[in-house]
Amino acid sequence: MERRPLTIVTGSSRGIGAATALHLAGLGHDIVVNFQRDRSAAESVVTAIGAAGGQGIAVQADVSRDDEVERLFAAALELGAVTGLVNNAGLTAHIADLADTPVDVIRQVVEVNLMGVILCGRRAAQVMSTARGGSGGAIVNVSSSAATLGSPHEYVHYAAAKAGVDAFTVGLAKELAAEGVRVNAVAPGIVATDIHAAAGEPGRADRVAQRVPLGRVGEPTEIAPAIGWLLSADAAYVTGAVLRVAGGL
Ligand code: NAP
Repeated sequence: MERRPLTIVTGSSRGIGAATALHLAGLGHDIVVNFQRDRSAAESVVTAIGAAGGQGIAVQADVSRDDEVERLFAAALELGAVTGLVNNAGLTAHIADLADTPVDVIRQVVEVNLMGVILCGRRAAQVMSTARGGSGGAIVNVSSSAATLGSPHEYVHYAAAKAGVDAFTVGLAKELAAEGVRVNAVAPGIVATDIHAAAGEPGRADRVAQRVPLGRVGEPTEIAPAIGWLLSADAAYVTGAVLRVAGGL
């Protein structure tokens, strides 16, 4: 019998990560649901994965800490060979001009959105690379249209971190291309999730919706299929790509 794919989705207790975990479960993946704070939300996602016929576990870990990333992957490896990683955990944290943004907020945003992706990508390379005894697989990094737009007056440091994610995607894709691991990114535009409220502006998505050429903000369920496709065999010739899913932004 062919093995089911086993995919770690960071930050999948809610938002784009939760929608991605459920979409992947529907495609036959077993899922490691990572979260930082909200265990009950993560357990609800695990329950929904079970209802979709998949197997899921919830694992708390702060992706910006290497010891916690190690623990996250160790929990996943107890289920079997890890074949997929969705580097989704992220935050904007604060909406303001750079000059008015506290340094500790800037540091946290860069640590989670960029360092978290690098640390998880590094660990995935160690366990998935066929040159290191792994069985190969695919990584999808969740970037943002901010990486090319710059996000002035909102969070330019977040945009810089996401541009770093794009560069990391291109480089790691080349590094792992001959080792059975594809690496791509999805860059959403403005998506209706709690990320905006968590940054202090619950109405942000509606405020900026008129900037979107398609005339509305996106839903998490409109991002998840792009991630699912990049992880799938249908995308076997795709690596190093940043796929914009942003309504034209
Ligand atoms: P969200 O609804 O705020 O969910 C964020 C998720 O990340 C939660 O599961 C949260 O877990 C987790 N998380 C936060 N910090 C973490 C850490 N240090 N370690 C592990 N998990 C952590 O966010 P979202 O809108 O779905 O965003 C998901 C990704 O899409 C992010 O990378 C974001 O930058 C990107 N994105 C979002 C938008 C948008 O408009 N929403 C647009 C472009 C790109 P807890 O709840 O347990 O803290």
